[in-house]
Amino acid sequence: MPITLDLNDSAVDSTTRRTLSNLSLAVAKCKKIVVVTGAGISCSCGIPDFRSSDGLYALVKQQYPDVVLKGRDLFDASLFRDTTSTSVFYTFISQLKRSIDVASPSPTHRFIKTLDTKRKLLRSYTQNIDGLEEKAGLVGSSSDGVRINGKGKAKIKVKEVRNVQLHGDIHRVRCTFCSAELLCTEDYLDRFNTGVPPDCPECVTRSKARVARSARALKIGTLRPAIVLYDEPHPLGDEIGSMQTADINRKPDMLIIMGTSLKVHGFKKLVRDFARVVHDAAPSPASASTSSPPKGAKSMAGKVIFVNKTAPGSEWDGIIDYHVVGETDAWVERVTEEWKKMRPADWEVQKKLVATGEVESTGTFTVAKDITNTIAVAKGKGMCFYPEQIHCLLTQEF
Ligand SMILES: [Zn+2]
Repeated sequence: MPITLDLNDSAVDSTTRRTLSNLSLAVAKCKKIVVVTGAGISCSCGIPDFRSSDGLYALVKQQYPDVVLKGRDLFDASLFRDTTSTSVFYTFISQLKRSIDVASPSPTHRFIKTLDTKRKLLRSYTQNIDGLEEKAGLVGSSSDGVRINGKGKAKIKVKEVRNVQLHGDIHRVRCTFCSAELLCTEDYLDRFNTGVPPDCPECVTRSKARVARSARALKIGTLRPAIVLYDEPHPLGDEIGSMQTADINRKPDMLIIMGTSLKVHGFKKLVRDFARVVHDAAPSPASASTSSPPKGAKSMAGKVIFVNKTAPGSEWDGIIDYHVVGETDAWVERVTEEWKKMRPADWEVQKKLVATGEVESTGTFTVAKDITNTIAVAKGKGMCFYPEQIHCLLTQEF
């Protein structure tokens, strides 16, 4: 059974408080943390858990009063067998994307970015399609920056990916014929909203070029949201598999699971695989019995922490070590606060940066003097933080 730590009890219960503090210190000390997340981390951003929510479905219902399609069926690959359900899906996704477009990252998204900035994040894996990790500054598996356009076997530069989008990305579209992936523009969104998918511009260009030299026109595919439905393979399945294998081989020292009820089969396997290797990093019971047992945060190395409002099922006994009951935002804010108190040196460089505004190399990025007018370029990564994101880092992270 996992040890239950209710954030609401921590004010009155000293054991809960002490254990939570030890967990915070363990986060501060661990160096290879794997984070896996689900819909719960985006709830505070105003994005509903749409797989189980009726809210967005109600909007679609206005447009398609006679269609009964909801919940899981709206995300099942079989919907493409029927033109009406395909239209409902396109309309639904366009409305969902519009609600996501106005959302900002939560403290939990920014916490994952902080782990990355402080070089503690091995990698983040999410079930979410909202792309809020990327808005928080984490390079996602569908980012343009990681794409390889050549004819090689790999489609993305796996080393650059900080956040694996296990179910795809609502901000992108994919051609059903040539598999080209593009950003979802306003024009495409308007088309999806009417229930009719746009044509693939790459197919159109290729076909036109053929016609121009008097050859036969080619088939033109339509665009669809680049999200992964139930019973569909992920187009980056091989790359995701190799990232997971690489991360397991690097022996992660902590697994943090946040905002997911752990119900999706493939996701459960990923969590179990990571938990197994994380537990290998724990201090062995044999050494503890011969000498004094490790105390406090030291004994927390190699732990699996589950932060969610509801408890994990009994199938997770022996896999999850701690169940932190509460909002993920509340937990990450507590961890950050305690981390700053317990290991202030970890935060000193950035404080200096804020105080002086001078040119300062932190080892992860360089910021020039006039912060408001300058783009800071991540060293050697070709990644840009635009002024708005610098502002976000300065005001919210430190
Ligand atoms: Zn195409």
